[in-house]
Amino acid sequence: MVSSRRAIVLVLTEKAVSVDSAADVVHAETVALPVPVVVRLTRYVRVPYTAQVPLSRRAVFARDGSSCVYCGGSATSIDHVVPRSRGGTHTWDNVVAACRRCNHAKADRSLAEMGWELPHPPRTPSGAAWRLLGARTVDPRWREWLGVPESVSA
Ligand SMILES: [Zn+2]
Repeated sequence: MVSSRRAIVLVLTEKAVSVDSAADVVHAETVALPVPVVVRLTRYVRVPYTAQVPLSRRAVFARDGSSCVYCGGSATSIDHVVPRSRGGTHTWDNVVAACRRCNHAKADRSLAEMGWELPHPPRTPSGAAWRLLGARTVDPRWREWLGVPESVSA
C-alpha cells in the first residue's frame, strides 16, 4: 500500500503499470495521468512485511466477523479469554470479540468456570488483506485484488 503520489511516481518511472485508476487526472510536466488506484509492479519486489498483524480492536472485530464468539450476538467489546487479572496476555491467541452482556457476565472468570467453550482457538490473522487494517481509509477498488473480508469496512 502506497500513497497516490508514490503510485504516480512508480507509473511515470515505469516501475509499475496502472491497473485501475480514479477519475482524477494528475498533470506532470509533459503528461497527464489518471491517478492510479491499483498498480502492478513491473518487477517483483520482495516487501519486508512485519510478521505480526498489529493487534487492534478493529482487527479483532474483523477477524471474528464483528460477532460475539460466545453467543454470536453483535460484538461491542474485546474480551481476554484468560482474564488479564489472571495473567492472560493481550495477544491474538487470547483476545476475542464479545458482546457487552457476555463480557460483563464472564468478568474475571475463566471459560471453565463459566462452562463456556470457544468455537475455535483464537489465531493471529495472516494474508495481504490484513495489511489494510492499518490504513485509515480502504478504497473499495482494492478489495477484489486483496480478498478483503466483508467485515473489514472502510
Ligand atoms: Zn455474547
